Amino acid sequence: MSDSECYDKNEFPGGGLSKESRLSLESLAVHGATPFEPVTGSITAPIYQTSTFRHPALGESTGFDYSRVVNPTRTELEKTVALLEGGKHGLAFATGMGAISTLIKLYHPGDHIIVSEDLYGGTYRLFNEYYREYGYLFSWVDTSDFNRIEKNLRPETKALFIETPSNPMMKVTDIRRCAELIHSRGGHLVVDNTFLSPWFQNPLALGADLVIHSGTKYLAGHNDTLSGFIVHSSDALLETLQNIQKSEGASLSPFDSWLTLRGIKTLGLRMEKHEKNALLIASWLRGHERVEKVFYTGFEDHPQYVLSQNQARGSGGMISFYLKNPADVPVLLRSIKLILFAESLGGVESLLTYPLIQTHQAIPEAMRLSAGVNDRLMRLSVGIEHANDIIADLDSALSQCKKENK
Ligand SMILES: *Cc1c(COP(=O)(O)O)cnc(C)c1O
Repeated sequence: MSDSECYDKNEFPGGGLSKESRLSLESLAVHGATPFEPVTGSITAPIYQTSTFRHPALGESTGFDYSRVVNPTRTELEKTVALLEGGKHGLAFATGMGAISTLIKLYHPGDHIIVSEDLYGGTYRLFNEYYREYGYLFSWVDTSDFNRIEKNLRPETKALFIETPSNPMMKVTDIRRCAELIHSRGGHLVVDNTFLSPWFQNPLALGADLVIHSGTKYLAGHNDTLSGFIVHSSDALLETLQNIQKSEGASLSPFDSWLTLRGIKTLGLRMEKHEKNALLIASWLRGHERVEKVFYTGFEDHPQYVLSQNQARGSGGMISFYLKNPADVPVLLRSIKLILFAESLGGVESLLTYPLIQTHQAIPEAMRLSAGVNDRLMRLSVGIEHANDIIADLDSALSQCKKENK
């Protein structure tokens, strides 16, 4: 194969949209980085279901050598997610945790990282049970309170790792201010943007250096695959991150890359519907006699409503709420029929989660309680079913709670 026939290493073999493309997010999501594969005209990205690639001759390569390192289907997905986040570079991993495991290796023992205290339990477990043992230093902070971040800064602080809105308490952290603060000390701002997805929030545009996604959630969107991403615009970090990705081996498979690409095509439609439903259901729950409090950033009386409106284009589809009576928890979970009692979020099906024993079990009790994760907290990932059906399901399950617990 001559040089001119060789594919550029990080290039899906097709005519791609340029990074400067001014297409809207809707159109980018539908068409991806490469709207068609030019040889056959295939409109969807082919699944290059191969582990390895033939070399034309000694010292020659098509640009693709081994699928842990680069695979064309994964490359197309990486470029598409980068476009959606307004970043230069995307890296796709087998899971969101695979992405976070790679990201954390940018830092070293002795480095200090300030982390949102109210965040995904798996991230807490990875940092606290493993990386702390290796000598990394972490401070767990309510990052929605800017003063507390400032108070926890140290000379060795290398990064701020935030989730906003937070999981599960829906606290909002000021991305722009965090970026300014950590940049003034030469550190990175990392934002886990899983909850809002690039549809509603683009942290890089607000000053973040690195964006994390569990693509398992809204990006793929159908509760049918796992995936994870790091998106950034730093040429300086790219090689290091690619090296860690290929060394660690948590690269996303060709088929799961394709499933995630397919999910992304309808990101806009889904996110709009998730949000519309979430506002209706949050408002309904709020008026229910067995519900004490509802957390949703779309409420005008949410403590950080203004900030949320300032940095995001929407409030997404995640709701948390406190029941009044902890005895209602098992009854509710057993009585829902349309809504499924399951971990995870961001798919078309509505899922109800009990963070205390599911997503946040790894977090010690005192810290959990101070973050607000108590034995009455429920988290609802609002799906795209008809809002009336979701409400009817909640209504009948809460009636059952009343019957059993008075
Ligand atoms: C699910 C989730 C993760 C982990 O992603 P996996 O794909 O399950 O590994 C990380 N962050 C947030 C906010 C999540 O919801």
